[in-house]
Amino acid sequence: MHVSPESLKSAAAEKLAELKEIDLKPKDRVDIPVQEMPTQDPLERSRNMSEVAIGYYAEQAQLEAMRCLQCKNAPCIAGCPVGIRIPDFLKAAAEGDFDKAVEIIRENSLLPAVCGRVCPQETQCQRSCTLGKILKDVNKSVAIGRVERYVADLQREQGHQGVPEVKPPTGKKVAVIGSGPASITVAADVRREGHEVTMFEAFHKLGGVLLYGIPEFRLPKAIVKKEIDTLVEMGVEMKTNFVVGRTRKIKDLLEQDGFDAAFIGTGAGLPKFMNIPGENLVGVFSANEYLTRSNLMKAYDVKRAHTPMYVSKKVAVLGGGNVAMDAARTAVRLGADEVHLVYRRTEKEMPARVEEVVHAREEGVIFHMLENASKILGGENDCVTQMECLRYELGESDDSGRRRPVAIEGSEFLMDVDTVIIAIGNGSNPLISQTTDGLEINRWGNIVVDEATGKSSLDGIYAGGDIVLGAATVILAMGEGRRCAAAINAEFA
Ligand code: FAD
Ligand code: SF4
Repeated sequence: MHVSPESLKSAAAEKLAELKEIDLKPKDRVDIPVQEMPTQDPLERSRNMSEVAIGYYAEQAQLEAMRCLQCKNAPCIAGCPVGIRIPDFLKAAAEGDFDKAVEIIRENSLLPAVCGRVCPQETQCQRSCTLGKILKDVNKSVAIGRVERYVADLQREQGHQGVPEVKPPTGKKVAVIGSGPASITVAADVRREGHEVTMFEAFHKLGGVLLYGIPEFRLPKAIVKKEIDTLVEMGVEMKTNFVVGRTRKIKDLLEQDGFDAAFIGTGAGLPKFMNIPGENLVGVFSANEYLTRSNLMKAYDVKRAHTPMYVSKKVAVLGGGNVAMDAARTAVRLGADEVHLVYRRTEKEMPARVEEVVHAREEGVIFHMLENASKILGGENDCVTQMECLRYELGESDDSGRRRPVAIEGSEFLMDVDTVIIAIGNGSNPLISQTTDGLEINRWGNIVVDEATGKSSLDGIYAGGDIVLGAATVILAMGEGRRCAAAINAEFA
């Protein structure tokens, strides 16, 4: 049930006042209720693109941080891919010192306002949290991400998010290819050491998936822009509409354009398809195209859009990850009468974050588990009219540890739809590997790098993020960027 933001705020204020009177023992901390995230009402938000989560109030952030038991062994730190000093930042927040809290986070993470929103904390830091273990529910762990988000937002809103200091020029030049979280991290860390940095981005706007993939209602674009603006203020040069491998090859940059090193952070932007009949019909989209039109080219804003958006009444989204949830929830906001999410396993195996699944349901997305499309059918003008589907059951576990979906023979049925969005994963774009002789890739097309340094098979060329890991997460991309930047800086030291 949706709880109004005002009542969450007043309940937190009351509890905080009560706790300020006592010397808190661990038992008292365990008893503090989890602070729910205030959100827009589901009916209202399914008609707008504004952020779903409103963010904690100060009282809630402080109270949530007070739930931390300050464990000596701090298992939460081991669960964080970039090793943030979680108990220390929570201690500062519990004392109401939000500035100190965010500074502690920034020692290890460059993008706390982003990570506080999109990191899968329930499978990382919060999964290891002692409090969650005591209460036997990962959803009752300290809400580390929500406190992180609060302190980062406060710092930005108060204009306290400064520009990192840049050391005097060294004369070295680094090309950073792509502008997603891996590249943003490399650009900042390398520029800080005084090296010249130029960022090359294929699209006309910077930010990678943070901009064109994750929708505004989960990650406001103003937050991404602020991070890009900070890089510009640090002196990073930006070149958009620049497709490395077409406009210039990497070797041109290194051998003719004066760059001493290059970082490849080109992500995993190549959509996978189902390879079923009917995928070329009008009304079939990859989630990538659908989300890019809506996010990057603002197709939802009909009057100012840079591209039209397909008008749909009955949409089927195929897949069960975050991308599928984003596509389904975008289709709801674009005015579809019905949005059906079709997934061939059960909800338990769905890779999407639990929060996204809950939000999608609240917004009216209809879930079809253990079903999948086997054919897409068209009518007049080759437009989609129906989808033939099969029912599935779960068999033995596969290599991923998840039970394998097995189609039930003779279970075919038809679903009336006019739009099909395919969200079954992304691979890496082969352009750079195909235009860079000697760059080693693996059988999935990901660049092979040295684990400790991120160095590729070619001297002076580093790579990190999804182009190395396959479609992964923002925090892992940032972690990879950190490692590569440290190796580049060491090479020039
Ligand atoms: P990207 O963010 O993919 O950026 C790569 C950039 O390189 C792009 O801007 C691209 O245009 C550019 N580029 C590509 N080729 C070239 C070229 N030849 N020349 C110049 N530029 C080029 N992760 C989470 O942690 N939480 C989430 O909730 C989450 N939700 C997601 C939702 C969606 C819809 C998608 C698609 C992904 C989501 N992810 C999420 C995954 C996460 O966004 C990625 O793991 C992360 O962005 C990878 O960062 P990156 O820097 O490696 O690359
Ligand atoms: Fe606090 Fe949980 Fe980390 Fe313990 S594991 S220090 S309770 S956040």
